[in-house]
Amino acid sequence: MIIEKKYHFYAAHRNKAGGEKCGRIHGHTYKVKCYFEFKTKNEGGITCLFSDIDKLVEPIIKGYCHWFLIYEKDPLVELLELANEPIIKLPFETSLENLAIWLFTRIKNETKLPIIKIELAETKSSKVIYES
Ligand SMILES: [Zn+2]
Repeated sequence: MIIEKKYHFYAAHRNKAGGEKCGRIHGHTYKVKCYFEFKTKNEGGITCLFSDIDKLVEPIIKGYCHWFLIYEKDPLVELLELANEPIIKLPFETSLENLAIWLFTRIKNETKLPIIKIELAETKSSKVIYES
């Protein structure tokens, strides 16, 4: 049985490796779809309560909401820290691909839920899909 859960978060970022347009500071409504595969179900036919998944996954997703996500080696980091601007530094350029792998890995490692696939969209027309 595969359970799909949808989440979203709003965040600013820039990706200097992504060309001129993506290199400018801008924001997205990131849409996240997580797929969990459960092998067994209980007598009531339930594999896992949706709310139990939410309790574990939402804190991870919401931890990025309304933040500026920035590569830790971006030269702006030093200036933003000097100005006491709140940022989330990440160990990679904030491409959609890198963010999808990062979220997938965090959910897998920190929740121990059986996540098998993640979809991450930053626009209505573009998303990436990452599977383990
Ligand atoms: Zn972007």
